Amino acid sequence: MLVIGPSPYISTLCYSVLKIEPYDFCSLNCIYCYADWYSRKTRRIIREFEKVAKKLKKRNLKTIPFRLSTLTEPFQPIEQAKKLSLKILKISLKYSIPLIINTKSTIVMEDPWRSEILKLYDKSLVILR
Ligand code: SF4
Repeated sequence: MLVIGPSPYISTLCYSVLKIEPYDFCSLNCIYCYADWYSRKTRRIIREFEKVAKKLKKRNLKTIPFRLSTLTEPFQPIEQAKKLSLKILKISLKYSIPLIINTKSTIVMEDPWRSEILKLYDKSLVILR
């Protein structure tokens, strides 16, 4: 889901204006997690994100950063197979879209994710925490 604007389901204390959610589930199943509360269609997420990125670039507009995944872990184990978050990293690099990424996964230390994040970092386009 690509969201622009406030969500009625998220606390104002955890508010993000621009966010992109590659996954609508998380296989890590942390006991305290509320990710399952949300049911969303994410099939077209990559295409929609790229459309927005292209439009921003075409109009030479600078954007505030997108949060990469606010509801689930963006680099959960299935990312190894699906690579949805990797696609988002590549689109962000291609169109100079800044990202804020929160993760507790070690996948970001492995290639190809690591090298894409480093390329974003070299262009001051990523905050990883
Ligand atoms: S989204 Fe985060 S808290 Fe929820 S199950 Fe995945 S890793 Fe755990």
